[in-house]
Amino acid sequence: MPHTWRVHLSRRNIFLFIASLVALTLVAGAASLPSLERHYFRQQAQQDTAPLKLAAESLRAAISRYAPLPALIAERAILVDLLARPDDGALLETVNEDLRQTATAVRASDVFVMDITGRTLAAATYREPGSYVGRNFNYRAYFGQALNGDLSSFQIYGTTTGEQGYFYAAPIEDGTRIVGVLAVKFNIDAFESVWRGADSDFIVSDRNDFILMSSRPDWHFRAMRPLSDATRQVIAQNLQYPIDRIDLLPITARDLGDMAQHVEVASDTSESFVKSSLRLAEYDWTMSSLSPTTPATLNALRTLLLIELTALLMIAGLMAYLFKQGRDAEKLVREQKAKRVLEEAVADRTADLRKALADLERTQLDLIQAGKLSGLGQMSAALSHEFNQPLAAVKTYADNARAFLQRQNVAEADGNLENISKMVDRMASISTHLRNFARRPQQPTGPLVLNAVVQDAISVLDVRLAAGGGRIVYTPPEGDIWVTGGHVRLQQVIVNLINNALDAMEDQAAPVVEVTVVGHKVTVRDTGAGIDEEVSGQMFDPFFTTKSPGKGLGLGLSISYNIVNDFGGSLIASNHPDGGAVFSVVLQPTAPREVAAQ
Ligand code: ADP
Repeated sequence: MPHTWRVHLSRRNIFLFIASLVALTLVAGAASLPSLERHYFRQQAQQDTAPLKLAAESLRAAISRYAPLPALIAERAILVDLLARPDDGALLETVNEDLRQTATAVRASDVFVMDITGRTLAAATYREPGSYVGRNFNYRAYFGQALNGDLSSFQIYGTTTGEQGYFYAAPIEDGTRIVGVLAVKFNIDAFESVWRGADSDFIVSDRNDFILMSSRPDWHFRAMRPLSDATRQVIAQNLQYPIDRIDLLPITARDLGDMAQHVEVASDTSESFVKSSLRLAEYDWTMSSLSPTTPATLNALRTLLLIELTALLMIAGLMAYLFKQGRDAEKLVREQKAKRVLEEAVADRTADLRKALADLERTQLDLIQAGKLSGLGQMSAALSHEFNQPLAAVKTYADNARAFLQRQNVAEADGNLENISKMVDRMASISTHLRNFARRPQQPTGPLVLNAVVQDAISVLDVRLAAGGGRIVYTPPEGDIWVTGGHVRLQQVIVNLINNALDAMEDQAAPVVEVTVVGHKVTVRDTGAGIDEEVSGQMFDPFFTTKSPGKGLGLGLSISYNIVNDFGGSLIASNHPDGGAVFSVVLQPTAPREVAAQ
């Protein structure tokens, strides 16, 4: 599973995926805003129910406070007197004043007396302009109800004062019959003004959705839905409301359930409210509170923002995760690539090495072959010289012998023949020398006294030294030193080394060769030019020589090396720090033999 992610989620794909997630989140957020808003509207409506109930209670209390008043005031005899003598000016004056004081005491806006025709005889506001005195209210429902002996309540628009009034009326009886009606008017401005300071507005509407009270004076007597013709007629008849002022409040409502609505009022400016309502059954009214939707909308937006931010954060997290995955995958690919490159490089290098090794082997073979050839060349050069010179001499001696024989000079001929014989001997000795080198006959080795062999070798060379003027300085050991070897062959080695030393000092007038035996080691030191660095590698090769033709075959060191090797010892060449070459023969020590051999 993670593998497929790695393979398919390229950087671009991740961006597309994240972009669509973000778009989806934003679209989903925008789409869910209305329902989120509704949730907060409902919450607002719920919060509004408690203050609404409280307001309804205080309205009820305010209205019912005045209910018993008209009946109590109607009991006064003076009112019956006035109804009996309506033209008694002094009595009217007394009643007017009495009513005025009563109204002040009970904080009613008006208390007034009507006769049975509905004409107002006296009123608490008798002194004020626009007083009811003289006006007829027989068309009003409360009047009719009071005449019937009922206690009434009626909401009405005070056509004279332009304010809303709430009226209670009671019949005035003279003991046997109803002679008039007493009405108390109070206004609910105070109640409305209490609401004006509140956060939300309120409305009290009747069964026709006609606004009776409101904390907003401009909503007074406006209808929340079109009034039917029948309703209009009733209103026009009893002048309950100012029919000319009734107009429609442009209101659109969406139900939120539970007596709650989201309403928009588009009067001057558009306003949006959460409206929660309460029935006031006893008056057939509905009381509603209208809270601005702004806080709820803000809440919805805040919640949405929080959800969106959370979602975006999660998306950002996802994006980071995916990018990390992508980077890891890229890293893996890079690492794999680097590994592949490395492996290829290693393979290439290995192939190169293999090729180099093969080349080396071939070169080595070539070198061996070349070495063989050069050895052969060196050998043939040396041999041809060694043999050509005596052969040429033999030819000369033979020609001479023939000439002398033709002249019967036997003695001369014999002399030449003897020379021929010597030459042949010399060639034979060269040939033996060569055969020995080639075959290296396995002669037995055994314990021998090293210092004795060295002494013999020096004795052999004394002849040559006497002629050349050179000298050997020999430092023998104390007592005999027993080593493994063959007497003649070891002597041949030491002679070779001393001869080479003398050759190296050829240009010196009185050359000295130092020969030392220390332990199982013989050292031969000269004061010549020393061993040439270029030569040191080939010195022990057969037929290698730096000497001029006729002087050396290049076999001395090669043969010596092999002899010492056969004895289980070693032949080491070096240069002395004070100049000249040092050749050392190190031999195997051995136990002394009873009878000295050879
Ligand atoms: P040859 O004496 O016939 O040349 P060797 O095998 O004895 O053959 O010596 C090989 C070469 O080693 C000599 O040609 C010389 O170059 C070098 N060599 C041997 N001994 C000495 C020495 N004592 N000092 C300097 N060079 C030496």
